[in-house]
Amino acid sequence: MQKGTISVQTENIFPIIKKFLYSDHEIFLRELVSNAVDATTKLKTLSSKGEVKGDLGDLTIEVSVDKDAKTITISDKGIGMSEEEVKKYLNQVAFSSASEFLDKYKDEANIIGHFGLGFYSAFMVASKVEVVTKSYREDAPAVVWECEGDPSYGISDSDKTARGTDVILHIADDSAEFLEKDRIENLLRKYCRFLPVAIKFGTRKETEYEEAEGEEDARSKEVEVDNIINNTNPIWKKQATELKDEDYKQFYEELYPYSQAPMFWIHLNIDYPFNLTGVLYFPKLGNSFEIQRNKIQLYSNQVYVTDDVKEIVPEFLTLLHGVIDSPDIPLNVSRSYLQSDSNVKKITSYITRKVADRLQELFKNNREEYESKWNDLAVFVKYGMITDEKFFEKAEKFALFKSVDGKLATFEEYRERIKPLQTDKNDRTIFIYTNSPKDHDSLIKACKTKGYDVLVLDTIIDNHFIQQLEYKEEKISFIRVDAETVDQLVQKDEQTESVLGEKEQEKVKSLFEKVAKDPGNMIVLKPLSPEDAPVAITRSEFMRRMKEMQALQGSGMDGFPDSVTVVVNTNHPLVAGKLLKAKGEEAKEDLAKYLYRLALLNHNMLKGEELTEFIQKTIAMVK
Ligand code: ADP
Repeated sequence: MQKGTISVQTENIFPIIKKFLYSDHEIFLRELVSNAVDATTKLKTLSSKGEVKGDLGDLTIEVSVDKDAKTITISDKGIGMSEEEVKKYLNQVAFSSASEFLDKYKDEANIIGHFGLGFYSAFMVASKVEVVTKSYREDAPAVVWECEGDPSYGISDSDKTARGTDVILHIADDSAEFLEKDRIENLLRKYCRFLPVAIKFGTRKETEYEEAEGEEDARSKEVEVDNIINNTNPIWKKQATELKDEDYKQFYEELYPYSQAPMFWIHLNIDYPFNLTGVLYFPKLGNSFEIQRNKIQLYSNQVYVTDDVKEIVPEFLTLLHGVIDSPDIPLNVSRSYLQSDSNVKKITSYITRKVADRLQELFKNNREEYESKWNDLAVFVKYGMITDEKFFEKAEKFALFKSVDGKLATFEEYRERIKPLQTDKNDRTIFIYTNSPKDHDSLIKACKTKGYDVLVLDTIIDNHFIQQLEYKEEKISFIRVDAETVDQLVQKDEQTESVLGEKEQEKVKSLFEKVAKDPGNMIVLKPLSPEDAPVAITRSEFMRRMKEMQALQGSGMDGFPDSVTVVVNTNHPLVAGKLLKAKGEEAKEDLAKYLYRLALLNHNMLKGEELTEFIQKTIAMVK
């Protein structure tokens, strides 16, 4: 056996490899199987150029575990290596790129996918590695290279006759977990599921049914078949034109078994100025937001890298599902660097544009279908509009607004529709909305009487969404239906006169100050229409939004009064007539209290003892 020393460097990198990213030791398997795939692909390329003659035979890569011998073997039938090549590639190229990689990143804990360590990642789990290889060149004899995790190695002759390479890992005692077949099979399914060369991991039993005459004769038998781990030709590598809807749905099922079918999808395929393929699916989101995240898988030439793509796609797109495959995403750099990488930036805007275009196209070509899906799209589109400038510009044209009557309209359509009646004295168009049509029923009806439209904005991000719209669009405001009395939702110049004189007004005010003096309440008299409610409750749009925003950010404005305004309609017959005419102070207060509680009830704010009292009083009155 020839002996040699790998490196001229003084530092021994093996202990560093061993320690490198402890939790990610499992990637050794991905690295070695990827090498086997590369060697096989190279052979195919040579063959297609006529540089390798004859039939290549079966090219399946085999992975096996021998628990007793404490080894894992990765065997390929690829190009193999001659002795010279072993020295060059394993001792020099692989070794120096591994040490260079480690040098650069040894202090960096978060390198995406950790590509780059390559062959030498074997030493994360092995105390000794043997490479038995025979080159496709017939005149090159087979050799064995071995190394025990220190810079010295040995090369000797081998009697291997078949073309290709066996990498035999002698698993170190502290990595014994990798001698479990299930563990290896799971890793293969994780990292190698879509590699372009078949990968076999042992055999598995399959039930085969035999054709039989009668039912009693129907027979099944167990047969052993190769346990092939991967789908070598996943749909994202195919042309969209050769695929049917069924294929996309089936692939989705393959990726996420037992999930609800996706609504639609985009097939990404670009090779200039960067190379990227993939399929992104729009799941049915409903009003959910968090639970569906982190389902996009990132691949590099069909090798699984990660399902954490935050740095590669804009945040809102992480709500989508599917696969992105790009060899142009630099995978051995730190995450913080990724976002500033110019390729990643281009990729990000490409994906954003494709997603927007797909929605736009669906909206244009089949608005009915698009509208039927809007409920499941709304959170996604709105989230995108809040967080991504470019997406906002596009989505503005296909984001929909839903009125309480169920009608959907784009922003422009809607604005045009409400403009005539809902523009205030400052020329602002007022978008009236509710977050709960049930709770606001009487207020919504009051709006309808005036000819106003009311929007339903009830998703978890609508607060932010309307904030964004108010910021981006000119001369519009959103106001919740309970933020003002109906006459003031859209402020006009008209003034109604109060039927009450000054003295009477003071009396009314003092009555309500007595009975409606809950903390934070402000009492205001207003000469509304006699048809409006006798007492109404409003809560300032601004204050409410502030509170909600702060609650969302977790810093509740404790002790901050929930300021509501009690609006007494001095033109209502119950106030202007009955209340003032009631005999005695007690009767007046009683009625005022009753009217106040009626207003609370209308706003779902009457609770507990007060509600009980109110009900009893009503029963007594009806009697
Ligand atoms: P990379 O694969 O990124 O080039 P590696 O360290 O994984 O780096 O491997 C270094 C080199 O060793 C490869 O480029 C290849 O030439 C050679 N090599 C590794 N594994 C195999 C194999 N299974 N068959 C043939 N050559 C191999």
